[in-house]
Amino acid sequence: MNASDSRCLADRIKSHALTLGFQLCGVTTPDSPGHLLEYQTWLDDGLHADMSYMASPRAREMRADPRALFPACKSILVLAANYFQGDSGSSEASAQAGRVARYAWGRDYHEVLISRLKDLIAFVEVAAGRPVQHRLYTDTGPVLEREMAQRAGLGWIGKNTMLINPDIGSWTLLAEAMLDLELPSDEPFVPDLCGSCTRCIDACPTDAILLEPRRVDSGSCISYLTIEHRGTLPVERRADLKDWIFGCDVCQEVCPWNQRFAHSQEDSDFAPRSPLPNPKYLELLDLSQAEFSTVFRGTALKRAKRVGLLRNAAVALGNASESADAVSALERILRSDPDAVVRAHAAWALAQCDGDTVQSMLRAALEIEVDQAVLAEIETALEARTSFMGSE
Ligand code: SF4
Ligand code: SF4
Repeated sequence: MNASDSRCLADRIKSHALTLGFQLCGVTTPDSPGHLLEYQTWLDDGLHADMSYMASPRAREMRADPRALFPACKSILVLAANYFQGDSGSSEASAQAGRVARYAWGRDYHEVLISRLKDLIAFVEVAAGRPVQHRLYTDTGPVLEREMAQRAGLGWIGKNTMLINPDIGSWTLLAEAMLDLELPSDEPFVPDLCGSCTRCIDACPTDAILLEPRRVDSGSCISYLTIEHRGTLPVERRADLKDWIFGCDVCQEVCPWNQRFAHSQEDSDFAPRSPLPNPKYLELLDLSQAEFSTVFRGTALKRAKRVGLLRNAAVALGNASESADAVSALERILRSDPDAVVRAHAAWALAQCDGDTVQSMLRAALEIEVDQAVLAEIETALEARTSFMGSE
């Protein structure tokens, strides 16, 4: 194929991608990432927290060289889908309901985007006139996808580490198709349009955004804590979660590029699916494992598993600490939830709530609890409660 045919093929593929529900599409090479050293330093500094799979020698090798992942790769299509739904569902929770990151309001984006990528590959094969070997990713493999998107001309990586496009902002999900097909690369997006802005850094509830080099400390980030972190949440971070029960959008909500240029996309795959976008705490705390699986089937929330979502809901309810219903729901799960992590966070949350009966509830739970970690949480909660009452 000559250069002109190749350019024409790339243009047809990009046009077709737009008909499949992607808003941006560019092409880059499978060369080593320019930000590799920064990424490796991020790992070496332990800022990936407990995501040890990212730091394995094999994962490092593949992120360092896309051809280690797919030796036949000749070019990479990088695509972005806008999931912004405006305020069709409220992004503001109340004292009764939690907040969920916007990308998770609808169908699980892994399923949505991989399906769209498969449709795109079918088109590529017809257009190229031959079978095309490929590998498809959307946050699913050891690829530095924001770096690839920047190299393919889709936008720049902001101080909040999100890929920002000057026309549509950062409410996008990225997907990549590695191909054994030579396509002409797009020009990288060079300018850094953050300028002197520091809104995301100033607004981050946990000071998780670091500068020079710009990166996020996962161990402090609410998104990591509520989704990826397994087991007990660090005590010093629980109040910071406020009403976030799955992810966090603060550093994107405050970004002027989103405030000015984000536009709502009619896309039924990303439209909120009940009980999203704001599941009620009391309903969440009532879910059995089977009910959790049914309610959140096909959404990204299953990533947190029942234990993670109920843990987060208990903490958020403790942060809201307003209603008598909250106290009785927390007492119920403290006494009877099958998962020790959920019971432990119910103890903490109960201690944050108003009410004369809280201390006696904690003492009663102390009598029946058998798990050492939960017992320790109850004792700490009782101490906190006692000193709180003493200071009144
Ligand atoms: Fe901070 Fe939330 Fe952004 Fe994480 S997702 S860096 S906690 S604002
Ligand atoms: Fe860049 Fe400001 Fe957006 Fe942060 S809020 S990513 S500094 S433009």
